[in-house]
Amino acid sequence: MDGDVQISKIQPVYLPWQNSLLEQILSLKQQQRLPHAILIDSTSEEDGAGFIWHLTMLVLCNDAADSIPCGRCHSCQLMLANTYPDFIYVSLLYDEKNKKINKNIKIDQIRKVIHETHLTRHYDNLKIVAIYPADKMSTEGANSLLKTLEEPASEVLILLLTHNMGKLPVTIRSRCQVWPLDRPEKQLSIDWLLEQGIQGEECEQYLEYAGGDPLLALKLKAANYADMVDEFKQQFAQYLKNGIDVTTLCAKLIKFDVALIRRLVKMVINAYCYQLSGLSMGLKARESGRKSQAREILLLSGQAERQLMIEENNLNFQIQLEDVLISLKQIIKRSKG
Ligand SMILES: [Zn+2]
Repeated sequence: MDGDVQISKIQPVYLPWQNSLLEQILSLKQQQRLPHAILIDSTSEEDGAGFIWHLTMLVLCNDAADSIPCGRCHSCQLMLANTYPDFIYVSLLYDEKNKKINKNIKIDQIRKVIHETHLTRHYDNLKIVAIYPADKMSTEGANSLLKTLEEPASEVLILLLTHNMGKLPVTIRSRCQVWPLDRPEKQLSIDWLLEQGIQGEECEQYLEYAGGDPLLALKLKAANYADMVDEFKQQFAQYLKNGIDVTTLCAKLIKFDVALIRRLVKMVINAYCYQLSGLSMGLKARESGRKSQAREILLLSGQAERQLMIEENNLNFQIQLEDVLISLKQIIKRSKG
């Protein structure tokens, strides 16, 4: 393993809807037709490291059955102990000095990987390099990987996983086989959420909040997102009626996690986008007579996304949030006036 600072060992994580991708990779391995570089394009919020561990264990295991590695053989044991010598995992490193995780995978990390792919293997099996999240590679890092992707060392499999395909350079994408890791069908998601102990009617609601991603739905449920939405709706109605001011409204919101606030504000703006453009009433914006507000809110939607990306500094985030909520109120008022 690479010299990453891992607070705890990474364990393999496997979810039922990942099955077809795993079966596909296992079958290619058995036919000795594995490509040299696979880029997994994931739209879900799964634990990418855990999935990479499972996938790697599966590829290395000689006794795997039904997409499940045996867990007992030598390579499985070493993978579980995070000590398999021919597996090089590259991720965001913890910076001791700044006491936080780096924002990028740095060029030195990638250079080290490239060097290691050329060293002799310890076992008569594949050497596997995994980079996750691949979109976090610095530009220099990504550039330095290009040559390795074009002319890979033999018996080396390079695995890249991203949740943000759009942020990965085209030059990287075009040199890998891209495999989508899709979200499950709705029923499978609901069954899985029920298994996780979420009540029937809440499954659908949270799945909707999460845009169909069951893992995100689970996270949102753990954070009681529905309560947050209800509270916000009440407060926002007060705010529109001038019952409370924007600072009070923000003070209620700011106690929640930044990612949740961002999601909530986006959801509210989207709902108004729908309404003002007439889409939610089956009318065209022109017929609804609020075309200019529909355009304004579309602009606000993009602007809010940029404004609320700030998370370093809470005070600054609060200012941006107030700004977005003021703009939103103005647009809503104009649409009614
Ligand atoms: Zn095994």
